[in-house]
Amino acid sequence: MSQDEAVREIKERIDIVELVGDVVPLRKVGKNFRGLCPFHAEKTPSFYVSPDRQTFHCYGCGRGGDIFSFVMEKEGLSFPEALETLAERAGVRLARRTGNRRSLSEVMELALAFYRETLLGPSGEPARRYLESRSLPPPAWSRFELGWAPPAWDGLWNWLRGKGVSRQEAISCGLIIEGQKGDYDRFRGRVIFPIRDMAGKLTAFGGRILSGEGAKYINSPEGPLFNKRSLLYLLPAAKGPIREKGEAILVEGYMDALRLHLCGFHNAVATLGTSLTTEQAALLKRMSDRVLICYDSDAAGQDATLRGMSLLQNEGLEVRVVELPRGKDPDELLASAGGDGLFGQALSRAMPLPLYHVHARREALAGPGRKKAVEEILAGLAELPMLDLVPYLGAIASSLGIFSHQLSELLNLRQGQKKGSPPPEKRDSALSGVLVKEGQRNPAEDLPDSLESALLYLLWNCPERRAAAAPEALLPLFGDERIQGAVAALLNGEPPESLRKIWYETGNRFLGSALAAGGDFCEAFGDPDEAWLKIETGLRRRNAEKEYRILREKMTRGLATSEEMSRLNWLARMLKGRR
Ligand SMILES: [Zn+2]
Repeated sequence: MSQDEAVREIKERIDIVELVGDVVPLRKVGKNFRGLCPFHAEKTPSFYVSPDRQTFHCYGCGRGGDIFSFVMEKEGLSFPEALETLAERAGVRLARRTGNRRSLSEVMELALAFYRETLLGPSGEPARRYLESRSLPPPAWSRFELGWAPPAWDGLWNWLRGKGVSRQEAISCGLIIEGQKGDYDRFRGRVIFPIRDMAGKLTAFGGRILSGEGAKYINSPEGPLFNKRSLLYLLPAAKGPIREKGEAILVEGYMDALRLHLCGFHNAVATLGTSLTTEQAALLKRMSDRVLICYDSDAAGQDATLRGMSLLQNEGLEVRVVELPRGKDPDELLASAGGDGLFGQALSRAMPLPLYHVHARREALAGPGRKKAVEEILAGLAELPMLDLVPYLGAIASSLGIFSHQLSELLNLRQGQKKGSPPPEKRDSALSGVLVKEGQRNPAEDLPDSLESALLYLLWNCPERRAAAAPEALLPLFGDERIQGAVAALLNGEPPESLRKIWYETGNRFLGSALAAGGDFCEAFGDPDEAWLKIETGLRRRNAEKEYRILREKMTRGLATSEEMSRLNWLARMLKGRR
């Protein structure tokens, strides 16, 4: 192929958003993507990538161009060197002076062709039966390039030899194993799942055994092609949708990931049957801000979930856990009738990591193991940056039966005991995952409560009032956990400016609008002291009314204790008298 043809071919195969996105975290802004310029130091992003024109441009330093100029600029390469780098990435073979050596990924493609052909041939019968029984019809086999490694010892190896593949090449690819009595195929009697890297290059296989001895799943060994720590199954298909949605769904198994894609959840990827690695977490962070983790709900799965979530959170991602009904895995649920709907609901109810720490131990909390469970929860929470916890302090504290300021004291204590604090960049990056995002709530319904906002506003503007306030009396007055979290932080001594900085950095608009609403509300009073008194009384009254309604309901159902009856009477008198 001529150089012009190669350049054209490479430009067709490599998307500039991906290429640049590998180095620069990019966020979608309208039709384009924006990020911090990799060529000059800047704090606000002025570097734009256009998927339509396949170009980049920085309004700060003026650099711009296509994929070739990006690689030349970034890596300091000449054009021929950049061409070679990008050709390798795109899987385009360049004419070379020293003959045509086959690349290892080409050997892998040959092997995949063999596996796919075999699935459809006479020996593929058991695999086809198995796939059908898992509700995977033939169109899915070709869409996901599924294959079949026959049980014979040398089916693939004979075939590769016929194509002129050398023994060394096949061994480097991890396709054959050197045995005492000769070389033999690594994958035998297994359904084959090809694993491609971000750029779509085939780097490994996963194989599921159908019968007989051996591990249920095996992967290609690590080698020159395959580093499983930095791969995710179905990433090439999922990366676009992940960037679009700013969110990835993470599952454990090949089958789960396939099923999600078949059901229209195109932003799903799977770890390769091993626990999540920091490399995989970093890969996800390059593409999105949020990860929904959806693992098995058995005990081992819950542990894996907590480990995985902490890893992702420390990478600066907002993490939520998806709990599926009746302990099903995603594949089972989605393959059953009405499964898509149930899965969609589970996604929308996904729980933030801090709350999941409590949720995962809810049974122990209610039983004799309570003390140990509380310890474990505190230990788990203390691993997270305090600012990531603020929005959930109220909810967590109430499930532990303490006040949120007590909880934050306990956590501060633990975090102080840990050796050294994380480096500043790490904390900053963790901030981007902080605080309940607006996207989760319906903006039309999500208006800040005026009374609660007004109290926040008064505390915000008056250090004396903050110093005089009694947290244990004040915090229970708040029904909105976000306002309560902000008030708890203020009463804890967090300066307003630093809170506001976090809101800006995390794009949290709710608390900003709560402050504005609170300001408007207070203006009607003129005197802030009078406003404080009126608002506090108003909130107390509202809470008393709520308590009254709950107790009354209990009483009418005959469930109220005598203590609750006298409390009810007292509330009734109080509410009447002070109307
Ligand atoms: Zn620049």
